[in-house]
Amino acid sequence: MASSDSNHADAQRPVVTRFAPSPTGFLHIGNARTGLFSWLYARHFGGKALLRIEDTDKARSTQEAIDVILEGLAWLGLDFDGETVYQSERAGRHAEVAQKLLDAGKAYKCFATPEELTEMREAQRAAKQPMRYDGRWRDRDPAEAPAGAPFTIRIKTPEVGETVIEDAVQGRVKVDNREIDDFILLRADGSPTYMLAVVVDDMDMGCTHIIRGDDHLNNAFRQLQVIRAMQGIEDGWEEPVYAHIPLIHGNDGAKLSKRHGALGVRDYRDMGILPETMFNYLLRLGWGHGDQEEFSMEEAIALFDITAVGKGPSRFDMKKLLSMNGNYIRAADDARLAAIAAEILGEKADVALLTQAMPVLKTRARDMNELADGAAFLFKTLPFAMDEQAAALLDDEARIRLSAILARLQGETYWTIEALEANLKVYAEELGLGLGKLAQPLRAALTGQTTSPGIFDVLVLLGREESLARIAAQAAA
Ligand code: GLU
Repeated sequence: MASSDSNHADAQRPVVTRFAPSPTGFLHIGNARTGLFSWLYARHFGGKALLRIEDTDKARSTQEAIDVILEGLAWLGLDFDGETVYQSERAGRHAEVAQKLLDAGKAYKCFATPEELTEMREAQRAAKQPMRYDGRWRDRDPAEAPAGAPFTIRIKTPEVGETVIEDAVQGRVKVDNREIDDFILLRADGSPTYMLAVVVDDMDMGCTHIIRGDDHLNNAFRQLQVIRAMQGIEDGWEEPVYAHIPLIHGNDGAKLSKRHGALGVRDYRDMGILPETMFNYLLRLGWGHGDQEEFSMEEAIALFDITAVGKGPSRFDMKKLLSMNGNYIRAADDARLAAIAAEILGEKADVALLTQAMPVLKTRARDMNELADGAAFLFKTLPFAMDEQAAALLDDEARIRLSAILARLQGETYWTIEALEANLKVYAEELGLGLGKLAQPLRAALTGQTTSPGIFDVLVLLGREESLARIAAQAAA
């Protein structure tokens, strides 16, 4: 496709992106957006979008937590390529890379004890110096360590110069190499650090583009040191293009948190948001194409460009999401909406009837729960309870009118919107009332509620027999 885009570093290398969520029990919408951007970028270039589960925190990474992520991504329509990579299964490979760096003199054993390191940090704090490992074992002979003493493996990072990243979103960012200390690759127990695991996995997966939250920008400077150190030791350690996307803020400008409402993708599904709304809303958080508000998945793939993502944080606006959802509901296929509504309503619901009713049901709803609520009257069975406002409407006068309506409708030959409307109009005129006034008790009797789709739609959807039975149940004897 558009291989001349400015943000595709090397047209010869097929694009490979990855989304690397940590299972925390939910799929945060900020992460979902990162996943969406990674996926779209790969799809745009006809490349591969890979998925890696960073499940090294054993306590949190339950299968359930992993399933929540997989389910959320599938719901959004993001189909990742190939097998999902599980970081925890790759610890042996991570250790192997650390060993290779050690063998090549690009890393070294550090025998500093935890107490010693604490002391070092405290001294740095007291001297108001930045806290970082001081390289005390960098040039020391390991033979000086007591026999059998535990050690970590630390990378040898450059002591002079600076590390520069041409970030596709942040622009040119650089760090003085003195700020990058010789960080740990392998812990004393032989387990890899997160910093090592991420970069080894990225390289083994052949990632050409790392698209992730800008809270990882600092990590990129460190991960690059590992990549550079491995060049010449193994093939395939090519620097990726980095794109660090800004975090999402709430509509008050503060970093998105629980107090702004739901944070998990599943919460939004449960709130009755359609997946295409969420897809589109997340897409528009930080990315845009002119004034266009809504994009199909195909359009998003064709137009997405990571360099068009803004540097500033984007704001999450629930109102906007809901109004967008209303538009998507109205545009959605009736049978599909009916299936979703039926699931919300439970076993009493009938998908065929819901599908038939959908054109009138979907005109106002902003979310699927509201839509299902509006459809509930279809599945009530006599006798059913009136809600409070409906009950208040059904006074003696209203019940007398209902019995008159009952008599008229019993005599109606054609059970169509037009015929029913014409019939009741005559009665309303006789009473000198507006049709709306007459419709109120009728609506209450038919639905048990004071809001519903248009009253003639309700009559037709319920059918003659059920409608007459419901009116009779409330009419004066
Ligand atoms: N697992 C990290 C997270 O969920 C992402 C790591 C990365 O993208 O490099 O924040």
